[in-house]
Amino acid sequence: MALKKAAKKTSAAAVPPQLLWKRDGADFLVTNDFGHYSWLKKKDFDSLLACKVGESHPLFAALSAKGFVRDRLDFDGLAAKWRKKNAYLNTGPGLHILVLTLRCNHKCLYCQAAAGGAAAKDTDMTPATARKCVDFAFNSSNPGITIEFQGGEPLLNWPALTAAVKHARARAKTAGKELKLALVSNFSLMTEEKARFLMENEVSVCTSLDGPADLHNKNRCFSGGNSHAVTLKWLKYFQKKNEAQADGYRVFKPSALLTVSRYSLSRHKEIIDEYVAAGLEDIFIRPLAPIGYARNLWGSIGYEAKDFAAFYLKSLAYILKLNRSGVVIREKMAAMMLDKIVNSRDPGYLDARCPCGAAIGQIAYNYNGDLYTCDEGRMVGWEGDDVFKVGSVFKDSYAKVMASAPTRACVVSSNLEAQPDCARCVYKPYCGVCPVYNYEVQGSLWGDMSSSDRCGLFKGIFGALFALLKKPGNEATLKKWVDK
Ligand code: SF4
Ligand code: SF4
Repeated sequence: MALKKAAKKTSAAAVPPQLLWKRDGADFLVTNDFGHYSWLKKKDFDSLLACKVGESHPLFAALSAKGFVRDRLDFDGLAAKWRKKNAYLNTGPGLHILVLTLRCNHKCLYCQAAAGGAAAKDTDMTPATARKCVDFAFNSSNPGITIEFQGGEPLLNWPALTAAVKHARARAKTAGKELKLALVSNFSLMTEEKARFLMENEVSVCTSLDGPADLHNKNRCFSGGNSHAVTLKWLKYFQKKNEAQADGYRVFKPSALLTVSRYSLSRHKEIIDEYVAAGLEDIFIRPLAPIGYARNLWGSIGYEAKDFAAFYLKSLAYILKLNRSGVVIREKMAAMMLDKIVNSRDPGYLDARCPCGAAIGQIAYNYNGDLYTCDEGRMVGWEGDDVFKVGSVFKDSYAKVMASAPTRACVVSSNLEAQPDCARCVYKPYCGVCPVYNYEVQGSLWGDMSSSDRCGLFKGIFGALFALLKKPGNEATLKKWVDK
């Protein structure tokens, strides 16, 4: 009887079972599975835990609306939010990465593409294989697919690139799917003629820009010329075409990726200024991973998670300062994470979702038609271990690939509920683990988050974002990034 009474007294203010929290100095960050968050003072956090946030509590309305008060859960509203945030669970792979060649004319210090030299033999995709890969991609149950051309340097295999582009555009006319085409290139082999073909077929272009000339060229060694100068030349070319939109077809804005090596850590301002000067409105600050060539050189170009977190925080603060003075530039990783945090939306970032995008969100097509869970899984295959190979376009059906053992193993091992540290982590609603990273660095698909540097990196990024969201005035600016 006494127990019943006690239960009745507290039930109106009970906390839901999924409450996740983290102490930050005098305050507490709380999150829940619906993706809501709140910063609480200690006394309010204590009240929430003690089930004392009743109707008379000043935070009752706010915490109820966010699903933190169990007896006030709006099940329909919260379920709709959860569905929106996890919509990817009902679609097949949207990203299809065609590795047109393993050859490359650059030798980047951190290269993850497992590229061979420009003269390497037997590592080009044939046009027939490229068309077969496109056909396979169109089997996906996803209503919209992106086919991304990568390498090596994909412009070294122009015949396969043009064959795939033409075939994909032809298939899209009857397939009833939205099709996006994208090229990731170092631009060193770009010509007016190639650029025109790409624009006519609405292929977006993305390159790498690691900062000012000395830093970029140190990271991205190119014996055939000045990599930085070539990159800027073609970025400007595509930007002008995008602004003009004068040729009767849609020209996309070019984009660039930044890979942070140890040499970048003390140069955040110069790197961001370089992006602004190049007319880029987005910078994607990506940490280095000890996979591929980077693993061999980790002692000279790698760093600890805390070093990256410090670099990232300084970079975000500088970008916000520039924004306040009218400069348009945003950080892409932050924009994607914030989309989850403030909008409960899925930004399509395959490496930070649960389960991750391995096979069910993306597929990598090797030059010979072999299929891998993702490009990182393909690189492990290149090192001689086919643990992430899910099939071949020549032998296997789409259904067989989706049900293959590596697909299922990646789904299970990247489920955060099955990760002991993640299941209790305050960042769980927005995070994701990587079975390839775990396998490569820690020797198992599951890994161990308590000693994982990747987990440390994500904690640093989320810590930086929530610290920024907490500061008055920042939330509005950060929301603008997301809605851009
Ligand atoms: S990977 Fe790390 S930061 Fe992400 S949910 Fe797991 S424990 Fe948290
Ligand atoms: S295994 Fe890793 S790299 Fe591959 S999709 Fe998952 S998170 Fe991304």
